[in-house]
Order: sequence, then structure tokens, then C-alpha cells
Amino acid sequence: MVLSSVTAYSALMPGDVDVAVPKRRKSVSAKGKRRSHDALTPINLTICPMCKQSVPTHRVHAECLAEHMKSGAPGRMPF
Ligand SMILES: [Zn+2]
Repeated sequence: MVLSSVTAYSALMPGDVDVAVPKRRKSVSAKGKRRSHDALTPINLTICPMCKQSVPTHRVHAECLAEHMKSGAPGRMPF
């Protein structure tokens, strides 16, 4: 009885799954081009004027906002 290579392999290694394998190695250049979009940028942090903790820019702590609104402080909001 003749088995195909896939069948024979599956019979030898039960539980394993056949997966696609690249035909050719990617060049260093191609790898670099693919990864040119992978870099992460650090989050910009600033100091919350109410609690002095670091917080991402253009974000407000809900507790600090509620505290500011409750205080009734006049003028521009410190956020
Ligand atoms: Zn805060």
C-alpha cells in the first residue's frame, strides 16, 4: 500500500497539524521592509494638575474632574 507523504507523516505524528511553510527564506532587506511598520511609539505622559500623578495627555481622571466640578473653582479648568 502506497501512502502520500502527508498521510505517512500524519500517521507517524498523531496530533500534529500540517502548516504552510514558506518556500524561500526572506532576505534581510525584505524582513527590514516588513518590520519598518512594527515600531511602537511611547505614550506621552503629563502631570495631572489635581493629583500630580502622571497621566496620558488629553485625558482627565474621572475623580479629579468630579472633584474640580464640585469645588466650583472659577475660571479656566486646569485640565
Ligand atoms: Zn488626577
